[in-house]
Amino acid sequence: MTKEKGFLTGKRREPGYRPKEERLQDFLAVEYRLEGMDLIRQTSRCMNCGTPFCHGSGCTLENVIPEFNRHVYHNRWQQALDILLSTSAFPEFTGRVCPALCEGACVLGIHDAPVTIRQIELAVVEMGFKRGYIAPTPPQKRNGMRIAIVGSGPAGLAAADLLNKAGYQVVVYERDRYPGGVLRYGIPDFKLEKWVIKRRIDLMETEGVTFESGVEIGRDISFRYLKSRFNAILLACGAQKPRDLSIPGRDLGGIHFAMDFLVQQNKRVGGEFIRPEEEISAHQKSVVILGGGDTGADCLGTALRQGAKRVLQFEILPKPPLSRDPATPWPMWLNILRTSSSHEEGGERRFSIVTNRFVGDEQHAVKALQCQEVDWISQPDGGPEVLERKPNSEFTEAADLVLLALGFDGCTMDPKQHHLDVALTSNGFVDCGTTNMTSAPGIFVAGDMRSGPTLVVRAIADGQKAARDIIRFLENRA
Ligand SMILES: Cc1cc2nc3c(=O)[nH]c(=O)nc-3n(C[C@H](O)[C@H](O)[C@H](O)COP(=O)(O)OP(=O)(O)OC[C@H]3O[C@@H](n4cnc5c(N)ncnc54)[C@H](O)[C@@H]3O)c2cc1C
Ligand code: SF4
Repeated sequence: MTKEKGFLTGKRREPGYRPKEERLQDFLAVEYRLEGMDLIRQTSRCMNCGTPFCHGSGCTLENVIPEFNRHVYHNRWQQALDILLSTSAFPEFTGRVCPALCEGACVLGIHDAPVTIRQIELAVVEMGFKRGYIAPTPPQKRNGMRIAIVGSGPAGLAAADLLNKAGYQVVVYERDRYPGGVLRYGIPDFKLEKWVIKRRIDLMETEGVTFESGVEIGRDISFRYLKSRFNAILLACGAQKPRDLSIPGRDLGGIHFAMDFLVQQNKRVGGEFIRPEEEISAHQKSVVILGGGDTGADCLGTALRQGAKRVLQFEILPKPPLSRDPATPWPMWLNILRTSSSHEEGGERRFSIVTNRFVGDEQHAVKALQCQEVDWISQPDGGPEVLERKPNSEFTEAADLVLLALGFDGCTMDPKQHHLDVALTSNGFVDCGTTNMTSAPGIFVAGDMRSGPTLVVRAIADGQKAARDIIRFLENRA
């Protein structure tokens, strides 16, 4: 037990964000951290439920939440950390960027605000680093087998960590200059400062993982070479092929994919070079972001920090409800209007809007969008709602920078192009059965490349699962 009936007396407390005026001047992390008695009080709200849905139905990693809460409450940080690390390779990432699926499934959330689980997780892992509980733990013995991992996002890193600790010699290939995948080049520093990734990569290198960055497999090194030198290959190349919008005017200047914009800003903050002719900047521009999801929100916060004149974010779907919707009852992940730190900083969000065409000027640069309001019509057979354009609801919105944050349609690394005989799903992702092995023996897949775009917590869990499947495959073959 943490504290008997602690949930009756303690209220949920959020750590809060740095003041808006201050945080808009930089790209540093916006969120404060819960510490000291504030944090302990939050652990005391955990009810230690007989059936804890937070890790049963909530957290994909199945983090054993009530147990680490209890240890933190009793000031036993090392034990809390051991429990946390028994399921999760990188709590310092999820502790900062996870939408906290666990909190959506917290039993206390049925009638009160859930326990601040993500903040407790973050406190445990950061205490582990601070007190030196997290130190390099290389394997005591190597087994002589080599694994190549293509892609260093959370899925590839999680697999590399587990395989290395199990005694395999792991080489992680990454086409970007630094490892981390979307953690490094997609998610802005104001959500995840990049020293957090570097600290983990340094630790993994000390433990024996080799990182070969700036190497694109299929271009700089062939898959044939990998097959001849490694006992197994894991594809963890993500799903970064952006969804486009084929409407008149799409070829105008000033219309960019969200990731191109975000990657540049992450590179800028990291001191990487960007060719002046390729610069995308929101400075003094009227910006319209198409897409109301998290990537759109990241573009919003970035555009505001770059000094945009005005930022609008258009979403084609209707505005989600303000409180839990009966369609997503507890303990399901709730469909609710989410207001990120970026939304609090400025800009305007509009829902149920479709863009019909982009309009350009004489220099062939975008200057406006022609849009229209839509209704979503329920179907008598209960099928998915159908979009209907509202008559006479057309409007024009000025813009000199448009960012397309419409989701992702597949992987940028096409296995077929590289003569990899792996089956694909109808959505263009890599198929596999219940194990993470593809249709090509010895070639495995994990993360967004398998599941389609998802979350860091799911990519880590999938990377860990793929690593276990690789171990099983090689042990059975031996
Ligand atoms: C802008 C943005 C913001 C997000 N924010 C959040 C968030 O706040 N919270 C959250 O939980 N999730 C978030 N997500 C989702 C999350 O980041 C992804 O689900 C996760 O990163 C997927 O991990 P992955 O390892 O499968 O792939 P990725 O992170 O995409 O990594 C794949 C890596 O493979 C490399 N690669 C590809 N092909 C090759 C090749 N041929 N050779 C070598 N390397 C190659 C790529 O360069 C890349 O580094 C966000 C996604 C985006 C796009
Ligand atoms: S990884 Fe995400 S879902 Fe799991 S315990 Fe942490 S915050 Fe909750």
